[in-house]
Amino acid sequence: MFSPRRAKWVLANKTCLSIRIYYYLCDAMNFNQVYLHTGANLGNREDNLKKANEWIRKEIGPIKSASKVYQTKAWGITDQPDFLNQALLVKTRLSPQELLEKIQAIERRMGRVREIKWGERIIDIDILFFNDAIIDTKNLTIPHPYLHYRNFVLLPLMDIAPELVHPGFGMTITELYANSEDTLAVEVVR
Ligand code: AMP
Repeated sequence: MFSPRRAKWVLANKTCLSIRIYYYLCDAMNFNQVYLHTGANLGNREDNLKKANEWIRKEIGPIKSASKVYQTKAWGITDQPDFLNQALLVKTRLSPQELLEKIQAIERRMGRVREIKWGERIIDIDILFFNDAIIDTKNLTIPHPYLHYRNFVLLPLMDIAPELVHPGFGMTITELYANSEDTLAVEVVR
C-alpha cells in the first residue's frame, strides 16, 4: 500500500544503491572520484565559476554533480569583496599530483596571479577529496586541511555529498557541518 513514508524510504535506498553502483563502476574502470571547490571574488564572479567548470570538463574530466552557488564573506582577510563558491564531483583518470598541476594551470590560464594567502582572486580551485585517499606531501594535503572549518565549503558539499565520510575523521559532511564553529553567513545565489 502506498504511504509517503514508505515512498521516501524506497527512494532514499534506491538513490544510495545507484550511488554505490556508480562508485563501483568508476572503481572498476579506474576512474577517480574527486571533489573540487571553486571560489571567485574578482571580476564577473559567476562567469569565472562557469569558465572554471568548462576548463575542468576539458582538462580534468566530466562533472558528475555540481552544488548550488553560494555567496560568503571573505575568510581570513575580511577587507575584500564577497566570494562565490561551488562544490563539484568530478570523474578523472589523473593522479592527485597531476590533478594539482591541472588545477593550477587552469587558475593561471584564467589570469590568477599567486598573491597573498587568503587574498582576493579571480579563481581558486581546491581539491577537497580524492577517492578516500589521505595524502600529506609538501605541496598537497588531501582531504583539504581547512574544509571542516569552513561553512562555505561544507554547505556546497552537503548539496552533492551529504553522506560522504571524511576519511580522516570518520564523520559525514552533514556531521562535520553540525559540528562546525564557523559563524560566517553563507547564502544561496542560484
Ligand atoms: P590556494 O591559495 O588556496 O590556492 O593554495 C594553493 C597552495 O596550496 C598550493 O601551493 C598547493 O600546492 C597547496 N595545496 C595543498 N593542498 C592542496 C589541496 N588539497 N588543494 C589545492 N591546493 C593545495
